[in-house]
Amino acid sequence: MPLLRQLEFAFRSTGILPVGQPGVSPGELVIEQEGSPQLVHPVPGKMPTGPTAGTAVLLQTARELLRAHGADRIARELRVEWNSRQKTTAGRADYCQKLISLNPQLFEHPAEIDRTLRHELAHILAQFRAGRRRVLPHGAEWRQACCDLGIADEKRCHNLPFKVSESARRYVYKCPQCQRDFPRVRRIMRAVACLACCRAHNGGEFDARFRLKLVRL
Ligand SMILES: [Zn+2]
Ligand SMILES: [Zn+2]
Repeated sequence: MPLLRQLEFAFRSTGILPVGQPGVSPGELVIEQEGSPQLVHPVPGKMPTGPTAGTAVLLQTARELLRAHGADRIARELRVEWNSRQKTTAGRADYCQKLISLNPQLFEHPAEIDRTLRHELAHILAQFRAGRRRVLPHGAEWRQACCDLGIADEKRCHNLPFKVSESARRYVYKCPQCQRDFPRVRRIMRAVACLACCRAHNGGEFDARFRLKLVRL
């Protein structure tokens, strides 16, 4: 049952069951994928400033992108919201509701807002093109949509170091190179490296030298 599997997937990956209704296709960005190397951004020093930016600009961008790819019908119905109920996922795409939800903590990572919007939009566009046919959350259709939306290199798994409550932040990892902390809710079960250092020293590719190390339980 694809939907249930998807929900379970999201639950296992984020520890938080996605808010949604039957038929929802969670386009979560944080997915547990054991064995595959991932890059994560270091924790920024400042606290989130809160959702102050209007969604009008984002919505306009999203609609123009959809129209440019023949999805006028969806473009009209689409909505974009900031949803603080999301904790560790950067964004979600709900095709049934024609709704893209973005985590307000993206304000800490302004450069990621547009990319996250396009990532989620790719879920919407892929499903629109597929019609009634079921598509995999990050399958070939989604990848094609990413290419069309200008994020051909988008990773299906993309972690952002969102702040989580003190009690939930049980594990702290450290980059051996830049010494920055990566607080996590759960233990990291796969190879994860510091994105900043991989970018600085290895052209943005995964580099085992910058693998995060557990420093505190
Ligand atoms: Zn996704
Ligand atoms: Zn680093």
